[in-house]
Amino acid sequence: MKLTLKMKMRSLTRNKEWMLEQSMEEFKSCVNDWLNAIAQLREKPNRGNLHRFAYKRIRSEHPQLHSNVVQDAMNLAIEIYRSWLKKGGSFPEFHSDVIYFKGVDVKIENNGLVVPLMGERVYLPLYVPKKFKKYLQHKHGRVAIKRIGKDWYAFVSINVPEKEPIKPIGTIGVDLGYYNLLVASDEKGREVMRVQGDVLIKHKEHLERLTARRQQRLMKRFGTYAKTNHKDRKFVDDLNHKIAKELVLKAKQLNRAIVLEKLKGLKGQKRSKRLRKILHRWSYADLVAKIVYKARLHGVPVIFVSPRGTSKTCSNCGYYVKGFKNERVFRCPKCGFQLDRDLNAARNIAKRAFLPAVNGEASSPQRR
Ligand SMILES: [Zn+2]
Repeated sequence: MKLTLKMKMRSLTRNKEWMLEQSMEEFKSCVNDWLNAIAQLREKPNRGNLHRFAYKRIRSEHPQLHSNVVQDAMNLAIEIYRSWLKKGGSFPEFHSDVIYFKGVDVKIENNGLVVPLMGERVYLPLYVPKKFKKYLQHKHGRVAIKRIGKDWYAFVSINVPEKEPIKPIGTIGVDLGYYNLLVASDEKGREVMRVQGDVLIKHKEHLERLTARRQQRLMKRFGTYAKTNHKDRKFVDDLNHKIAKELVLKAKQLNRAIVLEKLKGLKGQKRSKRLRKILHRWSYADLVAKIVYKARLHGVPVIFVSPRGTSKTCSNCGYYVKGFKNERVFRCPKCGFQLDRDLNAARNIAKRAFLPAVNGEASSPQRR
């Protein structure tokens, strides 16, 4: 699978920074030259006809750029043009502070990159987080260097070989909510993991207090308010990382596939109030994405199932309790079974997945 590693550049010598700036400006004008060429081409541009039409000229106008960078500029121009065709508006111009390099033109060594800039090979030192080191041993692809504010960043795409997938002996159903962010259960109703939602509430309250104080100060000094959303996002991002990691490692340890509720694909059906609430308040989709991605890295299968009725169905006898509302404990009027409501839902989710290794090849996937 492909990963993109974002790494901050260490401070550069003035000369290197100048070379980078010059190259980036050059790249910008090169992309715009390609866009102008597309405007003159009078047929739909592709890598073949556009190259034949203008490569020689544009190449000679940008002698400082590596030939592969000139070609990458062309590919980018085609992409920009195509998205403009869809979106419309005035003819596109390229302004981004970025330059791309092909993987073969970049060497990764000594915690840095060696890239071709203005006819030289230039070493650019990076801050490489410890957890990235193992990824950097694999083959890298395209590299982008961007300027964000005053800082420079490298975006290195890496092809990481996926782990041999495990052969699961069972499933772990995952119920995501707000009261409990996550409750995971096996198909027998044994709790595997639980993350209570109050971490989020506590953090929100903490932030609100901080913000209120800050707002008061700002109001006094400048007569205005400020927004503080990024802290929230960072916290949720870190939290989701931790939750996803723990879940995937547990699944791997227990040799089980992860089962999640599918939120899309429920066409023509209203999302339940419960799901709407989650989707609204907390980046549910982000957690799901992180679980899926970490599971792939660790060879843990992920199965999506329909969310219909998972919290209103008895995980013991399958009875659907129509009037079940927001009580914390699920009680089945038919068989008398009782279980924490989220654990009951998680167990239903675990049972809903079809696993050939468990259910046998002959049986068909359970549908509801
Ligand atoms: Zn029951």
